[in-house]
Amino acid sequence: FKINMDEMEIVGELGKGNYGSVQQVYHRPSEINMAMKEIRLELDESKLNGIIMELDVLHRAVAPEIVEFYGAFTIESCVYYCMEYMDAGSLDTLTGGGVPLADAKAEEGEEGCALRVPEPVLRRITAAMVRGLKFLKDELQIMHRDVKPTNVLINKKGEVKLVDFGVSGQLEKSLAKTNIGCQSYMAPERIKGESQNQPSTYTVSSDVWSVGLSIIELAKGCYPFPPETFANVFAQLQAIVYGPAPTLPPGYSADAQDFVAKCLIKDANGRPTYAQLLEHPFLAADKDAEVDMAGWVAEALERRAARGVKPLAMVEA
Ligand code: ATP
Ligand code: MG
Repeated sequence: FKINMDEMEIVGELGKGNYGSVQQVYHRPSEINMAMKEIRLELDESKLNGIIMELDVLHRAVAPEIVEFYGAFTIESCVYYCMEYMDAGSLDTLTGGGVPLADAKAEEGEEGCALRVPEPVLRRITAAMVRGLKFLKDELQIMHRDVKPTNVLINKKGEVKLVDFGVSGQLEKSLAKTNIGCQSYMAPERIKGESQNQPSTYTVSSDVWSVGLSIIELAKGCYPFPPETFANVFAQLQAIVYGPAPTLPPGYSADAQDFVAKCLIKDANGRPTYAQLLEHPFLAADKDAEVDMAGWVAEALERRAARGVKPLAMVEA
């Protein structure tokens, strides 16, 4: 169905990114709660329409690990992108908010980082990410290009889904990263490529790197490269390209450690494929495991509320 702004009731803001904000909206005709992302672009009408046409591919991106796309429209120079509302938000806010937490330190005794994620939960989240990425590659022939904890969403049922993948070339170009950001999930080859103006060094295994880094962040509750590099983009990129790869905090199995180590192999050609990752003992163990994901999400939401993070939306679905 075609959707438009007149059919929407704004419920509240879900978050802000570098390029715009995301609102929770209620779509009256379908009675569906949606998330609506507003992206402000300085483009002429034909380019904007080009983006809307390219986004149409998303109607084919139907998989349990992909956030459902409902449609997009433009108003003036803004693109509005409507998608499935994920009522527990993104992984970063669930396990730490990307910031080292003083209170969590007392709780866990862990280098100022937040709460640990039990291994079976970590495994299930990782499996969903890898399956989602494999689906994008095999079925739609696209790479994600922006794998990071804010782009992995979760709901109260415990479902884990990917969002914000690079489906529109025109949109990607228009968002051309003006600054690389202070917490980079980019693979070493991509950093090197961009510094030499050769973005072509980006391959599907660059997303594998970002998976590894995101999993560690999830487990630690904070961005894995040392805090002293947060304020200095150059130092951080140096650390990613030349420094030792981060590792999972102690307490996780040898299989888990090996899995992330393989994702974070510096040489892109040395990293496993998605099929290989799914067969890795770490993820293979997920298949028959019973994991109470909904229960874990409920607990994580309670802890988030206790930390004083404002609830995701004012009104419940
Ligand atoms: P960047 O702009 O670098 O991509 P980002 O991913 O944080 O960063 P947005 O994609 O604009 O920025 O999203 C902002 C926030 O809105 C996210 O961090 C997430 O918490 C929330 N959000 C996005 N999409 C949804 C959704 N479908 N359901 C619920 N919350 C969402
Ligand atoms: Mg995002």
